[in-house]
Amino acid sequence: MAAQIAPVSCERTHVIPTFDLKYAAPENAPASIRCWSGGTLNYIDLHAGRSAVAYNGSIHMAASDPTPALDTIAAISTPPGRGGIGIVRLSGPLAAQIAAQLVHLRQPLEHARARLADVLDPGSSSSGAAEPARIDEALVTWFAAPNSYTAEDLVEIAAHGSPVVLELLLRRALDLGTRLAEPGEFTQRAFLAGRIDLTQAEAVRDLIEAQTLTQARQAASQMGGALSRRVAPTKRALVELIALLEAGIDFAEDDVDVAPQAEIARRIGELTPPLIALEASFARGRIVHDGLTLAIVGRPNAGKSSLFNRLVERDRAIVTATPGTTRDLVTERISLDGIPLELVDTAGLRDAGEEVEQLGMARSREAMADAALVLIVLDATQPLNDEERRLLALAQGRPALVAVNKSDLAPANGAHPLEGISALPTSALTGEGIAALRQRILALATSGAAAEPGLLTSLRHQQAVAAAIAALSDAAQANQGAIPHEMILLDLYRALAALDSLTGQTTSDDILNLIFSTFCIGK
Ligand code: GDP
Repeated sequence: MAAQIAPVSCERTHVIPTFDLKYAAPENAPASIRCWSGGTLNYIDLHAGRSAVAYNGSIHMAASDPTPALDTIAAISTPPGRGGIGIVRLSGPLAAQIAAQLVHLRQPLEHARARLADVLDPGSSSSGAAEPARIDEALVTWFAAPNSYTAEDLVEIAAHGSPVVLELLLRRALDLGTRLAEPGEFTQRAFLAGRIDLTQAEAVRDLIEAQTLTQARQAASQMGGALSRRVAPTKRALVELIALLEAGIDFAEDDVDVAPQAEIARRIGELTPPLIALEASFARGRIVHDGLTLAIVGRPNAGKSSLFNRLVERDRAIVTATPGTTRDLVTERISLDGIPLELVDTAGLRDAGEEVEQLGMARSREAMADAALVLIVLDATQPLNDEERRLLALAQGRPALVAVNKSDLAPANGAHPLEGISALPTSALTGEGIAALRQRILALATSGAAAEPGLLTSLRHQQAVAAAIAALSDAAQANQGAIPHEMILLDLYRALAALDSLTGQTTSDDILNLIFSTFCIGK
């Protein structure tokens, strides 16, 4: 008999007293429950809403009771410096109460409505005036829990962007009983309250840090839950398989074979391909997130700097220049179709002469060692020399391409023998071949991978998915070896824990703290 098992949808909850759920769910068990046992997440599967099975020792059942109250935090949420507007944010149970003491509201606070208020200068009353004088005017918006960014009571006081006024507000908020927020603590609270998962929280940081529109779009899609949605069907199927095996163990004494070996193999087999595709998306996700380095190498005078300038030029408006100090390398960050690319030019050596030539080539090799992509620039008017042959040999098997520059001076058919590396005629002087060069660099950078929703963008994500794939492979092997279901289950639970760590359901506090500490204060 196959148990009819409803996959559990996890809701943010907290632990209530230990409960032995082995075979009976309490009358008042919520429809979806989540539980922990000794720090590992377990699933409780409601069997037709009446009975439940829970495993691995004692179970803490989680229900939807309110989370224990946290303190009220405050921070200046706008960047340091002067600006048109500056915002002080308060979140926690006392947010509205403290805000009402911080400013003189002209109307009572109302959820999601901006209210005009006077920011008063407490120091002014001691100088003889009866009432403290107004030092600024502000708009105060209160978002009542749970309908706020943090899912707590949240107040935003938008004053003029004067650091003096904002600091006055913050200092008073602290005096009135708030605590200065840690970096990322507002978002962390949204995560802890279950309003967003960990991938969405990370996307908030990525959005703020985005340098190109493509990065911002990627972050926005992840913030909308694209990655979690992509993983969800696999996770659901995995939970169903776990439930099936658990049920099989329960009915073992009745000699009922609920899950034949072939069925288990089929189900594990179906779980893996979506995860492998997901892991493969890291190839593009990582470069969208982190960008890449392209080293431009070749002999002096081949036209490296001229090509570099050509590549940089079109994006000049949105690039940030980095002074090239290391080893005479000039670096510049450009956005190639939204992908951040750091160009490294081994410039700085102009004069001819054997020594300089050798030094230039040595630098080329160094730059190549550090870069993800390599652009070898050859001079179409010169025969290949030994060093260039060595560079070409070094580039074999790496993401590299060759520009045969000064094509304006050499006949098109006078191509160099290039030993299997794709070569493109270019002229930094006339601009010929530059558009094609950009296209080739882009294709090389993305390995041809297309943009898709729910990309993996961080090593943390990739490692979680890789761990899940490895655990599933172990489960498949165990199943093939006719190992008892209890052992297969251990592998399946491991896969589940890995997928759960992606969204933060089983991520340790240390790792959470590490992630949120990379946020800015006030976010
Ligand atoms: P690098 O030493 O490899 O960085 O070479 P440069 O970019 O400094 O160029 C060396 C010389 O070649 C300069 O005088 C450039 O103006 C010239 N040059 C660079 N690219 C081209 C090109 O495509 N066609 C022509 N005719 N001259 C070029």
